[in-house]
Amino acid sequence: MSVDISPDLLTRFSRFDRPGMPVPAPDVWSENFTEEDYRQALNGIGQHPDATLALYLHIPFCPGRCLYCGCNTTVTHNSQRIDSYLDALEREINMVAAAVATGRDVLQLHVAGGTPNYLNDAQLTRLVELVDSRFRILPETEASIECDPRRASAGQLELLRALGFTRITFGVQDLEPRVQRSIGRIQSIDLVRDVYWMAREVGFDSIGFDLIYGLPEQTAESFKATLDAVVEMAPDRVACFGYSRGNSLAAHQHAIDIHQLPDDMQRQRLFEQAVKTFMASGYVWVGLDTFVLDTDELAMAQDEGRLTRNCLGYTVMSTNNIIGLGTGAAGEVQGRCVQNEQNLATWKAKIEQGQLPVARGYQLNTTDRRRREAIGHLICNLELPLELAEGCFDEEYRRLAAYASDGLVDVDASRLRITPTGRYLLRHLCTEHEAYFAWDRARWHFSRSL
Ligand code: SF4
Repeated sequence: MSVDISPDLLTRFSRFDRPGMPVPAPDVWSENFTEEDYRQALNGIGQHPDATLALYLHIPFCPGRCLYCGCNTTVTHNSQRIDSYLDALEREINMVAAAVATGRDVLQLHVAGGTPNYLNDAQLTRLVELVDSRFRILPETEASIECDPRRASAGQLELLRALGFTRITFGVQDLEPRVQRSIGRIQSIDLVRDVYWMAREVGFDSIGFDLIYGLPEQTAESFKATLDAVVEMAPDRVACFGYSRGNSLAAHQHAIDIHQLPDDMQRQRLFEQAVKTFMASGYVWVGLDTFVLDTDELAMAQDEGRLTRNCLGYTVMSTNNIIGLGTGAAGEVQGRCVQNEQNLATWKAKIEQGQLPVARGYQLNTTDRRRREAIGHLICNLELPLELAEGCFDEEYRRLAAYASDGLVDVDASRLRITPTGRYLLRHLCTEHEAYFAWDRARWHFSRSL
């Protein structure tokens, strides 16, 4: 696969390289969206007999801060603080379950943070039993959890399997000690390997790794060592995200020296290296930045045009009711996007007052739904049929089509297709078209960086 991306082209796009899409856009979601609006949406689920659910649970605690982290998390060493969080979460779950009123099948359950596996065994058990007692979790529910390998043990992994989790994702980021020191996150390759094989042994259906390219001190040689070690382990899925940081940094993020960061062309080469390594090792490149073994259901779904994408990532499951629970958790219920209070104290205070802890929301209109359909089609199928844009996004379609002169898209009478070169810039193409893609970028902010 040859990639012909000139420094000039990258420079034109780099100004759009904001913290990894999707990111929240509070200007799109209104703080006038009320608790009552959300309650009505939840009640509305009961009026649709076929409605299904996905649940997202946010656990906002970590034992320390990684220097690159921009997640909604709190450092604590006080287990009682986590117990107290679970008390409030239980009340939130009770309120939401009561508003949904009738049992609905849960197709997906996803737990992220923060560091979910920072919870001790009793807390993890309590969390799952709590959800299980209020919602209809089925044997076929896709239950996934994001874990920090430094907190995992054989016993914990066995417990997670016994609790019904079938998918697990480990934050690996980079395996080179020099890079790890620069990001304040030390985890030896032996530790990652041990945890990986323990997870295999206890029988997880799917094991995923998250990697980050564009970190300080990362070079082609160092990243090669990481990629080689990863493909040798052969996780089922690997997400390879680009590191970027916004303008408003938390204090810990300033500890990363921007002068040590790879430049745009070096970042591009690192990602190309990842693509080449995974493609040469039996993986299929799915969507923007995910690589899966060719036996994975996502690979088959992409091949058959069935791939979809929601706030939980690429999926073959389809539900239009995603309920976010916990601080800062976002969801979408009956066409209304909702985000909880991100501040732990504010979130808790609202719950203690018997309120759903809504911070902001957004009622999707017909145009938004069409935008979503078009964006989803583009990101999953790497093409945009004209009919999905016609009469609504003609200008945006023309702007995308104009990239044909840069070799990023091919255009015919009925559609535009992303070229092999354009695929490397798909995220940038999406981000550039603010009006067109703002909704998608606004949707969710979940930790993918444990
Ligand atoms: S990157 Fe993950 S483990 Fe590190 S501080 Fe952020 S949420 Fe916690």
